[in-house]
Amino acid sequence: MTVIARALVIGGGIGGLVAARALRQQGIAVDLIEREPRWTVYGVGIIQPNNALRALDRIGLAQQCLDHGGPFDGWRIHDAQGNVLIDPPGDNSAAPHLPPNNGITRPKLHEILIQGAKEVGTDIRLGTIATALHDDGDGVDATFSDGEVRRYDLVLGYDGLFSETRRMLFGDTYKPRFNGQGVWRYNFERPADMDTGKVFFGPDTKIGLVPMSPALMYMFVVTAEADSRWYDGPTAAEEMRSRLKGYGGPIERLSQLITDPAGVVYRPMLTLLVDDPWHKGRILIAGDAAHSTTPHLAQGAAMAIEDAVLLGELLGGDGSLDAAMSAFMRRRFDRVKYVVDTCDQLAAWELEEWRGIDNPDADQGGLLHRATHALMADY
Ligand SMILES: Cc1cc2nc3c(=O)[nH]c(=O)nc-3n(C[C@H](O)[C@H](O)[C@H](O)COP(=O)(O)OP(=O)(O)OC[C@H]3O[C@@H](n4cnc5c(N)ncnc54)[C@H](O)[C@@H]3O)c2cc1C
Repeated sequence: MTVIARALVIGGGIGGLVAARALRQQGIAVDLIEREPRWTVYGVGIIQPNNALRALDRIGLAQQCLDHGGPFDGWRIHDAQGNVLIDPPGDNSAAPHLPPNNGITRPKLHEILIQGAKEVGTDIRLGTIATALHDDGDGVDATFSDGEVRRYDLVLGYDGLFSETRRMLFGDTYKPRFNGQGVWRYNFERPADMDTGKVFFGPDTKIGLVPMSPALMYMFVVTAEADSRWYDGPTAAEEMRSRLKGYGGPIERLSQLITDPAGVVYRPMLTLLVDDPWHKGRILIAGDAAHSTTPHLAQGAAMAIEDAVLLGELLGGDGSLDAAMSAFMRRRFDRVKYVVDTCDQLAAWELEEWRGIDNPDADQGGLLHRATHALMADY
């Protein structure tokens, strides 16, 4: 006997697809609706730290990610000219049988997650939203955009940073906040001798190179930005290149290859944390809908995945829904808040350094190291 018999997942992103599989594996009937009429995922990559791989392993999907990705150990740190400053080992204490990190293309990850949700019997409908959710205490009647009404024991809003489910629950209380930074991404061929992730510290930017497969890597560039506008369109490659000044060596060479504006993925860094609890009655938000963090710890998707896998474990047990929701918040809120706060702190210190402000308390390397290790603890 599970806590609930039937759930609706709103949103077919990383978290929603993982939640669908995690709940189905417990025998819970799951419908998943995705707003987009076709699966659409932008083409760069994503980093899966060891704790994300641990969570995926619990639902049987870590190995596939590794098979189709670029597993790597740690982050070799360089100056702007490409000289190695430090080469710390990666941390895989969450799941020692798995590597510290894996890079994977978003399209490949989505393919794995879609197949993972489908093969356990998730009923997926594309091009569909919930226009109304009515919770009468015993269940939720969800009205879909095609007019159909279905009843569920629990609705999971996994509809991302601009979540409509969050708005339905909490109105306009929570709005994403711009942290003063942006991140640019571009794919490259992976050099044959690339044996780990790499970070380069420039005078007023930070750059990373991430293995994604034996043949591919991507570059991320973290920059200070005046406002939260999005850059795309014909000038995107030029805009990205203009932010790579001050680098020599390998970065200067790669910079010249950034020529295709359609290959540039830019996002302003937006952050958001909904207060505890993330649910009202039988409707819960999770993933970016409840907590969106910046990429400083590469933990955004990792947190969405951990939410989803834990929900499967809790809802697959016995006891009341109230007890499961309380346990969920007890095990998730502080951990996620730690990630959001740590990323905010790292971003603030970076911006100070780039502006030439000397802050004696700033300890980016130390905090990054401590946080990476802290997140390996189970939750
Ligand atoms: C540039 C960038 C780089 C990142 N790099 C990393 C990284 O390296 N590692 C990491 O762990 N995280 C990373 N993240 C964060 C990560 O992408 C997110 O945390 C993660 O995708 C959140 O998953 P989610 O399922 O909650 O939301 P999303 O992945 O945003 O999925 C939401 C889904 O809901 C759908 N939807 C929206 N509204 C509705 C609606 N009303 N009805 C139905 N469907 C709807 C959307 O179409 C979408 O498919 C990065 C983010 C960005 C922007």
